[in-house]
Amino acid sequence: ATPTALMVGTARSAAMGVLIKNGAALQETSKIDTVVFDKTGTLTIGKPIVSDIVGDAHEVLRLAASVERNSEHPLAGAITERAQQEGIELNEAYDFEALSGLGVRAHIDGHVVVLGNEKIHENHTFDVQLRKRMSEMNNDAKTVVIVGVDNKIVGLIAIQDAPKESAQSAIASLKKRGLRTVMLTGDNEKVAHAIAQKVGIDEVISDVLPQEKADVISTLRADGATVAFVGDGINDAPALSVADVGIAMGTGTDIAIEAGSVVLTHNDLRGVVRAYDMSKKTFNRII
Ligand code: ADP
Ligand code: MG
Repeated sequence: ATPTALMVGTARSAAMGVLIKNGAALQETSKIDTVVFDKTGTLTIGKPIVSDIVGDAHEVLRLAASVERNSEHPLAGAITERAQQEGIELNEAYDFEALSGLGVRAHIDGHVVVLGNEKIHENHTFDVQLRKRMSEMNNDAKTVVIVGVDNKIVGLIAIQDAPKESAQSAIASLKKRGLRTVMLTGDNEKVAHAIAQKVGIDEVISDVLPQEKADVISTLRADGATVAFVGDGINDAPALSVADVGIAMGTGTDIAIEAGSVVLTHNDLRGVVRAYDMSKKTFNRII
């Protein structure tokens, strides 16, 4: 493409909420055959809310919020907000620790309180009834934070994060153009599939630790795919850098916006389709 065509392409995209940082990014976008999406904050709104509490609700919420008020994770925000709404008085938590992709841990009144997914609770006994409830809520696209005290699981907090309004139509448009769509998430398989089904994504790669996301993108590329990765979080920055095209959500963290070569300033996932169409329009003409 001529320099003028490139400038016109990137300027037109910017007006539609798609900031393409340079001509090379626009050219790379015209070659992609696979679009990989982060889940939380990218395909979903990223404002999770507590939908169910299993166990002694007041006690479970008190312990969970006392620990989670030390965390910046979106799930933590949902839990502390709910505790605040219910006017629950929190305890002092000591020795707070965040375990990336797993959950959080702290001491309260001499007890160890552990919150997170099944991986962090590997050594805890899990009552059959509770496991069944967890499975049902996962199938309902709810992420379940398991609450353990010492060696026992005492409750579950189900958290719901709705898909973005733009997700379904964006995915449908990408598929119509023959592109492969994939979800990449640290959440578990059931929740991931439930959300994938809602938005129409065909492939799911779940239970991925934050530091593994970039490796998954590298593997897809090594297998011959030309990959755009769409993400928003601090955890997503390495994957955004490693992808052929990194597409950051405008509402994402600064570090993600910096790592991406394309930024969706309107936070609308249809921006991925617009970027692709604009790149094709700019580059197909001159091949
Ligand atoms: P995603 O890839 O969906 O953005 P993350 O990699 O941030 O998710 O987290 C993966 C999983 O780790 C979460 O789904 C949750 O089960 C667990 N987790 C992480 N941080 C916390 C926390 N502060 N409280 C409870 N669970 C957490
Ligand atoms: Mg995210």
